[in-house]
Parts: sequence; structure tokens; C-alpha cells
Amino acid sequence: MTAPVFRFAPSPNGELHLGHALSALTNQRMAKAVGGRLLLRIEDIDVTRCTPEFEAGIFRDLSWLELTWEEPVRRQSEHFGAYEAALERLKREGLVYPAFMSRGDIRAAIMTFEATGKTWPRDPDGAPHYPGTDRTISTRERKRRIDAGAPFAWRLDTAEALARLDGRLNWLEWTDETMGTTTDVAADPLQWGDVVIARREIPTSYHLSVVVDDALQGVSHVVRGRDLYFATSVQRLLQEMLRLPQPTYFHHRLVLGPDGRKLSKSQRDTGLAALREAGESPQSVMRMLQT
Ligand code: GLU
Repeated sequence: MTAPVFRFAPSPNGELHLGHALSALTNQRMAKAVGGRLLLRIEDIDVTRCTPEFEAGIFRDLSWLELTWEEPVRRQSEHFGAYEAALERLKREGLVYPAFMSRGDIRAAIMTFEATGKTWPRDPDGAPHYPGTDRTISTRERKRRIDAGAPFAWRLDTAEALARLDGRLNWLEWTDETMGTTTDVAADPLQWGDVVIARREIPTSYHLSVVVDDALQGVSHVVRGRDLYFATSVQRLLQEMLRLPQPTYFHHRLVLGPDGRKLSKSQRDTGLAALREAGESPQSVMRMLQT
């Protein structure tokens, strides 16, 4: 039997905080408990926000926490070709379409709609769904606009993707860290509308790179924060469309700040580097996470 594969996949667009420490250490503990392997993946497709300095900070913080991972580390910015190949497949199968509406266009469409007293659908993050009108633009007109340099993003035709599945779309989620029981969760990708799969300048997105890499790296167990629980619906749909294997999932609790909100990368005081500089030890970080 092959060993289970876990991964911790931070983005170097800010400093790691206590929430990342919880994620990394939970991955490590669960991998150890089942004799699994732990991979580290640097999710740096957003080349404008990710920096080598933040990446160096990730290695410093994780080493300080005594996390150990397998080499080589996969850096997503070095694998755009793999994501592009997956995008091409989705294009060939008619599952993505070029979406040309700007933020302003979307706002205007929603305002017109909501003026009639109805509510425009919003995704689990509160962002309005993309209006579906671009789905019906002819191939010729799409080509004309793209050739003319119009800005656009590739969006998933979520309803079409779902229509191609014979069965139910689900995911397997452990109920707790002992991995004793898994529950079957019904995925609901429609709640996201037509998500962005790739941009004109970057041939991928968070969702696309994650599913491609999890499959390429043989990840069997995805352990990450609850903030990504609903994203699993989109990722399961993409796995089905790209015929990729289905990992099992565990979404752990989030570490909240004193204001009861999710920690952010701009809150310096819960940053791991700041805690280290303030004289805290990895053991005291672990104690902070137990509460
Ligand atoms: N790179 C993502 C983040 O930093 C995590 C991706 C994942 O675990 O699926 O939030």
C-alpha cells in the first residue's frame, strides 16, 4: 500500500501567522499518525503579490516550528505549463468561456436587476455571481474580441460542467482529527456561479492549480482551514471534469483574533516572525494554538 500524502500549501503574499502554524502542524501530526508523507507547496501564481522575501520567511518560520517536509518543494510559478494544459483541455471540452465583463459592467448589470426588487445571487464569500450573458457570445465574436486585445478571464461554465456528470457530486470529509469517521458531503458548486479558472496573463487560478497539483503530487489527504471548506465544491467539480482522483478532506478550525475575526496577513502581532522576535518559542506557539 502506498503511504498517504499530505501537503501544506501557503502563498508567499504575506507573513505566516498563527492560523498557518495550526494548518502546518495539523498536517504534520495527522501525517505522522498514519505513517504518511508531508509535502510543502509554494502557491505563488499571483506573481504581482508573491515575493521571494515572503517565501524565505515561510521557510524560516516553518523550520523554526520544526516542521519537516520532503524535497523538492513544488513552486507553482515554475509549472504554468501544467496548468495551461489542463486549461486547454477544459477549453476543448467547452467547459470554460472567455468572460469580458469588467467589474463596472457587472455592477451595472446587478443594479439593473436588483432595481426590479429581486436579489442577485452571491457566492459564499459574498461576491456577486458573474452574469452568464457571455456564455452565449459566438465563437467568432469571442475570437474577434480576444484578437483585438479585450481584457477577459476564462470562467467555468458551472451549470454545463454539472450537467455532464452522471452521478452526484460529493466529497469525503473527516469529522475530526483522528480520521476515524468520514462523512459524505454533497458538493454545491453552483453556489459559486461561474468561477475564474484562468486569466489572460496568468493561465491558471487558485482552483485550477490546486487540483492539478494535488493530483500530480499524489495528495491523498487535504488538510486546510475552514475558510476553504466551500471552495472544495468547485475543486471537486474540476477534479471530475479533468478526471483526477478525489482526495479526502479535513477542514480544521480557524484561529481567530481578539476581535473574533479570522487572522489576516497584515495583523503583525499574530505573525510567526513577530512572535519569534518577541521571544516566544515554538512550544509557546503550540500552547497558544491549544486554546
Ligand atoms: N494557498 C492557499 C492559501 O494560502 C491554500 C490552498 C489549499 O490549502 O488548498 O490560503
